[in-house]
Amino acid sequence: MTALAGVTVRVGETDRVRVYAVSIGTGQVAHALVDTATDPMVQMLRPRLIPRSARKVPAFYREQVLALLAEIATTDLDAVAIVTAQPAAPWHDHVTRQVPGLPVTVTHPGLAATWAEYHRRGRTGTLAHVTVSATVHAGIVLNGQLHPNTFGHIPIDPDSPRRCGTCATPGCVTALAAAPAVLRRYRELRTTASRIRRTSASPQPGSIMLVDLAQAAARGDDAARQAMQEAGHWLGIGLATVANLIGPDVITIGGALPAITARRADAGGYLAAIERAAHSHATPADATPMVINSAPDGAERSLFGAALLAVPRGPQGSPG
Ligand SMILES: [Zn+2]
Repeated sequence: MTALAGVTVRVGETDRVRVYAVSIGTGQVAHALVDTATDPMVQMLRPRLIPRSARKVPAFYREQVLALLAEIATTDLDAVAIVTAQPAAPWHDHVTRQVPGLPVTVTHPGLAATWAEYHRRGRTGTLAHVTVSATVHAGIVLNGQLHPNTFGHIPIDPDSPRRCGTCATPGCVTALAAAPAVLRRYRELRTTASRIRRTSASPQPGSIMLVDLAQAAARGDDAARQAMQEAGHWLGIGLATVANLIGPDVITIGGALPAITARRADAGGYLAAIERAAHSHATPADATPMVINSAPDGAERSLFGAALLAVPRGPQGSPG
C-alpha cells in the first residue's frame, strides 16, 4: 500500500479520498464512487449486466470495465479499486493503461468484504470473516492487518469423495460447504427421496437454484434441511480450526448462501449447525468466547471495503 502514499487530500481535519470501485461478478459489473472521509459515503452507480452468452468470456468483462472507466471523470479521483475473484488476472495492467497516473488496487471480494466488516466493527479486535458463495473464502484481521489465507481449501474430511476443482486432494472446506456443494448434495438427497416417494411441492432436481433450496428448507423439506445442516457442520469444523489457531473475538459469515438463509430466519438451521460444530470442535481451553454472526452482504459492502483498502495508511489502522 505504500505505493499509494501521497494520494490523500486533506479536507479540514479529515483524510478524504475519492475512490472509483468496480466489482466484477458473474452476471454483472457493479461500480460505485466511494468517498472515504470520516463519514464514508458509497454512491452506487447503475450496474452493467452481462448477457448469459458472455458470462464465461473474460474479454467481454474487460471491455465493460474499460468502457466504464472511459466514462468516469477520473480527474476527480484519487484511486481506482477493482474487486474480482480472479485477482491473478491482469486487471491491474488493463486498468492502469486506461487511467495512467491513478493508483490501482485489485482485491478479492472476500478480502474486501472482510475489510468492510472490520471497519463496520470499529477497527478493533481479531476478526475472521468468511464468505460462502461459489467458493469459501476467509479474511483474517489480526493486529489491524488483513491477512489473506487458504481457509477455503483446508482439508476437513480427507475421506470424502468431493473435490473443489482446485485442490489435488478431496474434502476441503469449499468442496463440502460452498454453494455448489450444497446444491449438489440437495440434488442427491432429492433423487434418493423421490425414489421413495414423489413430492410435487419441491423443485425438480435438475433446475434447483440457491433460492429454491432456501425456500424448501424454510418450509421444512427434509432433504433441503439436511443439505444445509451438513454444509453448516463442515463449515463449522473449518471455523474451529481458525478458532484454535488465532482465537478471534468474532467470526462473521457473509456471501450468497448465508445471506439467503438469513433472510428466511436461518432456513434449515444452517447458522445453528455452523455454531454447533464450531463450538464443539474448538479447543475447550480457549479462553476467548467465539461469537459467530452473519454480516451485512452485497456488492456495496465489497466495493466499500475495496475502496478503503485503496486508501493509504492512516493513524487509525492499516489495511496491511
Ligand atoms: Zn479445495
